Amino acid sequence: MAEVVLAGVGKVYPDGTRAVDDLSLNIADGEFLVLVGPSGCGKTTALRMVAGLEAISEGTVSVGGRVVNRVPSRDRDVAMVFQSYALYPHLSVRQNIGFGLTLRKVPKAEIRKRVEEAARTLGLEDYLDRRPRNLSGGQRQRVAMGRAIVREPRAFLMDEPLSNLDAKLRVQMRAEIARIQRDLGVTTIYVTHDQTEAMTLGDRVAVMKKGELQQVAPPQELYDRPANLFVAGFIGSPAMNLLRGELTGTETDPRLRIGGQELRVGPEVLERRPALREHIGRSLVVGIRPEDMEDARLSEATEGNRLTSTAELVEAMGSDVLVHFGLEASTVVTEDTKELARDAGTDVLGTLETPHTVVVARFSPRTQVQVGDSVEVRVDTTRLHFFDPETGASIWGDASAAEAPVPAGEEAGDEAGD
Ligand code: ATP
Repeated sequence: MAEVVLAGVGKVYPDGTRAVDDLSLNIADGEFLVLVGPSGCGKTTALRMVAGLEAISEGTVSVGGRVVNRVPSRDRDVAMVFQSYALYPHLSVRQNIGFGLTLRKVPKAEIRKRVEEAARTLGLEDYLDRRPRNLSGGQRQRVAMGRAIVREPRAFLMDEPLSNLDAKLRVQMRAEIARIQRDLGVTTIYVTHDQTEAMTLGDRVAVMKKGELQQVAPPQELYDRPANLFVAGFIGSPAMNLLRGELTGTETDPRLRIGGQELRVGPEVLERRPALREHIGRSLVVGIRPEDMEDARLSEATEGNRLTSTAELVEAMGSDVLVHFGLEASTVVTEDTKELARDAGTDVLGTLETPHTVVVARFSPRTQVQVGDSVEVRVDTTRLHFFDPETGASIWGDASAAEAPVPAGEEAGDEAGD
């Protein structure tokens, strides 16, 4: 087991494409780090540089304190698990799992011992003599994991290992991977574009956009304190609602105007986000998570925490009801939101600012709201998010910090100090 450190790592492909830019990450011994981001953000390239499958253009990668830039892949002592887990069809599960060890001329008894141990960890003991074609998709994926486990590597590198499985199996295997990694305690870097996988698996999650690290933090911190608009919009489903608003009122009674309506922000929000004071009287970007809104008929609403609108769409999800309603506030279009729209496949709609924003709220299933009804929405104004409209950075600390671009991975609270 080992710490994996990326220091100022960059990758420029021979055709001039810059895939990764100045990526620095300290992955602690035994840590599960998830690299997440939209397609093309450079996460696979980053992983392949750690694996030794791609030359490193800039910076250094170290495994267990040793710089491995020039060490061939097979000598890096890391094991890769890919999304396509090509198993040898003519070999049994036992032979498939032990294949790498056989190649390395590990003694037979040792191979047997390690394969059987791995099979126990993976719940494959009863399948060791089967051929891959007689296994389910999940079992095949486990065999692929087995191949990595028996090598007893210092780190696991996983590239979307679950993306070929159907949704139900993916959820099952996700839990399995978490358990196995915890049991073995092997440092793991896991690449995915699925934010749910990222949130549920990672001790910490590193969010990338266009080759650049945006933020690295434990999942809940990423959710509660996104460093910028991109992270805010990428993590969370349904996504955080983003709209333009104006901070008015005074430091003791700050108000937020959105689309002709007004919310009381509460002085405690200013205490938590001191830099917000500098924004009084200015326009900014407001973020509201769907679950921070509720049907006002089901919860105490007062003048200062209520928005009024008409329900445009009501989706009953069982555990909750998603209510879509419009506000006469401008939508937000920045480089970050364009990138998010591209990722969501809604870029045709998402590239022009319009004076009408559709907001999604997650109501309790007890709501009676129907499409076309006028709806009163209670907003938990203590949980509002605020972003600088120019830089897209979250407005938190002192004014100078809010104005400077957020240094990737150095958001306040990231004690691991990447
Ligand atoms: P995905 O989830 O789609 O695999 P990713 O985040 O893993 O995306 P990469 O595969 O690392 O992204 O690609 C990052 C960027 O580098 C993309 O713009 C991609 O087109 C480019 N790229 C990848 N491989 C090469 C290559 N061999 N030559 C040139 N450009 C490449």
